[in-house]
Amino acid sequence: MSETLELTKALLKKASLTPDDAGCMDLMAEYLQQRGFVIEWMNVGDTKNMWARRGTSSPIFAFAGHTDVVPTGPLEEWDTPPFEPTIKNGLIYARGAADMKGSLAAMMTACDGFIAEHTNHDGSIAFLITSDEEGPATNGTVKVMEALNARGEKIDYCIVGEPSSHKNFGDMVRVGRRGSINGYLTLIGKQGHVAYPELVENPIHALAPILSGLTAEIWDEGNEYFPPTSFQISNINSGTGATNVVPGSLELIFNLRFSSELTPETIKSRITHIIDQQSDNYELVWNLSGLPFITERGELTSAVKKAIMDVTGLQTELSTGGGTSDGRFIAPYGAQVIELGPINDTIHKINECVSVDDLDTLSATYQKVLENILL
Ligand SMILES: [Zn+2]
Repeated sequence: MSETLELTKALLKKASLTPDDAGCMDLMAEYLQQRGFVIEWMNVGDTKNMWARRGTSSPIFAFAGHTDVVPTGPLEEWDTPPFEPTIKNGLIYARGAADMKGSLAAMMTACDGFIAEHTNHDGSIAFLITSDEEGPATNGTVKVMEALNARGEKIDYCIVGEPSSHKNFGDMVRVGRRGSINGYLTLIGKQGHVAYPELVENPIHALAPILSGLTAEIWDEGNEYFPPTSFQISNINSGTGATNVVPGSLELIFNLRFSSELTPETIKSRITHIIDQQSDNYELVWNLSGLPFITERGELTSAVKKAIMDVTGLQTELSTGGGTSDGRFIAPYGAQVIELGPINDTIHKINECVSVDDLDTLSATYQKVLENILL
């Protein structure tokens, strides 16, 4: 059994539901310590955070990731128990196999291989690991980045181990993410009997022109790195359930995944403008979950493209699609950040799995990236 597979299995046996690390980082710390890393714990509240660094000079090349996993869902729907890693037909099944314990193991063995050959490498290799990525993500990477910044420790290059591959390992990496903002709109009307329209104000009717305004809006055209901004409504709630009552209010939740062409401020003012034209009795609450970030073509994109080509023969695609990741907390400090990991088609699902072969390919790719950057 390869060492990457062995480490993956050891991590997968630990039921590390957010924010419980369940001993994963202790295992990683012990491995890294034996290879010259200095371990620093930066725990916040119930979240465990590890900063491990080998070397004292610049540049700092960091691997970033998380040990926590999402809940399993109904256990009876799993073919094998989610915390008993099981290999079948070349795939290893367990919660966290693809997202992202396989990546953590591959990072560790990549470092082992690199250090064995280049003990006195230039610069530093680091690990930024948290147990709060799948949850609220308030006590994890964001806090470590603040602490590093406060003492002037700057990550230059960062590989996040999120599962980025689409159909084949290495066919896609993420070089940025769209921003994400949620809006919670409450339209306030006046409840009453349906038979007396003059006595009611129907918030559902008031929504109709707002809805058509919001859904017809072209937010931007995107740009070289980002697809056009998208607007989606996820929830509409109103009505009492009775057939003869006009409801007194309506609640609507929407989300925008936005490109770097827009800012939260411009989004807020454009949406408020559309609503203001139709209603003067509403409440709107915003929740910004992340700003867009982009790693433009440079040393890290070249190093990653070349590594993937060397190891797999694939020309990788630089993408900004997909959900958010902790890369959004690292990039604003000026680091070049790329997400590179295994195939993501089973993440968060029942019977999550990853290809056993891909684990070794991932490790080899991470090691090549280290060589391309630090040698
Ligand atoms: Zn993840």
